[in-house]
Amino acid sequence: MAAKQFKTESKRILNLMIHSIYTHKEIFLRELISNASDAIDKLYYKALTDGNTGLNRDDFVIRLIPDKEKGTLTITDNGCGMTKDELETNLGTIAKSGSLNFKQDMQKKEDIEIIGQFGVGFYSAFMVSEHVTVASRAYGSDEAWKWESSGAEGYTVEPCEKAEYGTEIVLKLKPDTDDEKYSQFLDTYRLKSLVKKYSDYIRYPIKMDVEKSRPKEGSKDEYETYTENETLNSMVPLWRKNKNEITEEQYNQFYKDKFSDYENPAKTIHMYAEGVSTFHALMYIPAHAPFNFYTRDYEKGLQLYSNGVLIMDKCADLIPDYFSFVRGLVDSQDLSLNISREMLQHDRQLKLIAERLEKKIRSELETMLKNKREDYEKFFKNFGLQLKYGIYQDYGMHKDVLKDLLLFYSSTEKKMVTLKEYAGRMKESQKYIYYACGDSVDRVDKLPQTEAVKDHGCEILYMTDPVDEFAVSMLAKYGDKEFKSVSADDLGLETEEEKKEAAKKVEENKDMLAFLKDSLKGKVSNVILSQKLKTHPVCLSTNGAISMEMEKVLNSMPNAEKEKVKAQRVLEINASHPIFQKLCDLYRDDRDKLKQYASLLYTQALLIEGVPIEDPVEFSNQVCGLMIQ
Ligand code: ADP
Repeated sequence: MAAKQFKTESKRILNLMIHSIYTHKEIFLRELISNASDAIDKLYYKALTDGNTGLNRDDFVIRLIPDKEKGTLTITDNGCGMTKDELETNLGTIAKSGSLNFKQDMQKKEDIEIIGQFGVGFYSAFMVSEHVTVASRAYGSDEAWKWESSGAEGYTVEPCEKAEYGTEIVLKLKPDTDDEKYSQFLDTYRLKSLVKKYSDYIRYPIKMDVEKSRPKEGSKDEYETYTENETLNSMVPLWRKNKNEITEEQYNQFYKDKFSDYENPAKTIHMYAEGVSTFHALMYIPAHAPFNFYTRDYEKGLQLYSNGVLIMDKCADLIPDYFSFVRGLVDSQDLSLNISREMLQHDRQLKLIAERLEKKIRSELETMLKNKREDYEKFFKNFGLQLKYGIYQDYGMHKDVLKDLLLFYSSTEKKMVTLKEYAGRMKESQKYIYYACGDSVDRVDKLPQTEAVKDHGCEILYMTDPVDEFAVSMLAKYGDKEFKSVSADDLGLETEEEKKEAAKKVEENKDMLAFLKDSLKGKVSNVILSQKLKTHPVCLSTNGAISMEMEKVLNSMPNAEKEKVKAQRVLEINASHPIFQKLCDLYRDDRDKLKQYASLLYTQALLIEGVPIEDPVEFSNQVCGLMIQ
């Protein structure tokens, strides 16, 4: 029979497996057992919801059969089995929904990481086998089919005999080499410890014939060997065990297996609730954002079990969007098995559970922030953006839940700080919580607009994510203190006297300012004498709700209107800077030149803001014109 080819990407992965230098080859067993358990889950679910199958929970079993003579390890299950088509599609291609992403990621990451990250399941059998045979009979079908492959060359599928439904996988192990003893996977003691290590919580018995010895009857010192069909796993799902029975290693391993991550989680949250709703939850905060986290492809949600039976893989309603990075599962006896997705959304129990989970996640994050600052900062680097989106989402409905979880870079502390810390340090006379926006901490630090606020000894929070200012405008206040951008026109810093002084100066120069405003018509809504600038000549500020940063963000959105959003720009001039005197002189002597100067100053202010300038060529010509004078 002619061998069929694997799909290209499957072939690539297969090759990775065959030539793997991955040190944990033993994980193949965990992968195959977990597939067997999934297959039983499917059938058991059918049995529970159908009622006519006559199947009982006790009927299900996974078996391991090592055969030292033949050099084979066989793994069987009596789960749902596979039809001929399923054998071909499931084993001939990578069944992962993320296969495309996988390909992209392939270029970037080390092969070894890929194996860990994607947990490529069935193919891991080829790390230890030279030949793999899968015989399967789908439940309810009277045909059985055999899939066989020796690796990358391809595979064959042909009919076979199989008395029972389910799947039987026979691995012909590779011959031992100096570095690698594949025969260890025929040793019952070794197999037993691997099951304990990786698959203890599988909910169906994993059985194997184990040779044991006992004293011979009627004799004191003679022993006889006998075979016992032993159940190797304890079958209690990890999440149903007591916390003190579980090691950190077990929690981490469970996470990595189940959620295909190569790194231990940053935080494990294990809870049991009783009362209005009774449930177990095991949740994890990953140590890094999944590669597709900030894309549309990322699907949030927790696995949902009803009394130990998986009813949904990603139940989105259990987790709010702003905590969408949390992976994990919930197991509750209060949920009906037959519940549909649509009904779940309105399920009262589910809502109660979701509320409890949200509270728990939040309090765990707060504790981390309080006691493990470094860990929290790392967490925030990964997922802080999501929290900020959360503030902005749903018209600010969740801002109270999230506001104390935010971190911003502080101008005075030179590190990330919370709003609470900022507020706690504020001087009594300070009216506002000041913030400044820009692309990076460095850039914001140099903004001329920050001068006066810094001069007054006030702390400034630096907002470097596009969403920051939107989140802050949604927050509006922290406690009773309003947020104020350093680019806003009135920073509330001057004394009455200073204000009077400033007003006088404006009055004296009002004609020139009006002239400047007129010459920058269509570009700025006003030209004023700045109260913010100390040493710098000019800066831009804005009038109204849209700031320069918001303008940038809104216009860069994919669906931005053709008619670009424009902030109402105000050109601020520093009256104590020598340039001001020059402007006054020109107003008196040479108004054409003053027009040019106005345009130059405006362009400089744009450059400082990091906004593309309108006509770079003209700007360059103007500067050159000045240079040759
Ligand atoms: P994954 O299990 O992550 O989907 P695998 O490569 O391990 O990826 O398996 C591919 C598919 O093959 C599974 O999704 C399942 O549909 C099918 N499969 C694997 N092993 C079995 C089995 N023992 N019984 C029934 N179906 C199986």
